[in-house]
Amino acid sequence: MKCPVCAKGDIKTGKIKEEMFGVYLGEFPAQICSKCNESFTDEETTRKIEDAAKAKGIWGLGKKTKITKTGNSLAIRIPKEIADFLNLKEGKDAYIHPDKNKLVIESP
Ligand SMILES: [Zn+2]
Repeated sequence: MKCPVCAKGDIKTGKIKEEMFGVYLGEFPAQICSKCNESFTDEETTRKIEDAAKAKGIWGLGKKTKITKTGNSLAIRIPKEIADFLNLKEGKDAYIHPDKNKLVIESP
């Protein structure tokens, strides 16, 4: 079977190490392209990955948020679940920096 993404590689059965938001979820069976390394999981495996993410309390942590203005700066509302996960608290110091097109907020 040829890879549906790059159309050049062959699809082989293997294992993928899955992580979400930097948290390791485990190894799962997948079909992997020999050329572009794209991996494909069946419905059952996709559900298992979802369950692993839920068990670690990180399922659904990626959320939409609005950017607002406060004085000359912009403010981003951080949902409670993400604040709890990163242990961000009001009044605590945090380090903020760009990473390509992402914004990284680090809590010490
Ligand atoms: Zn491919």
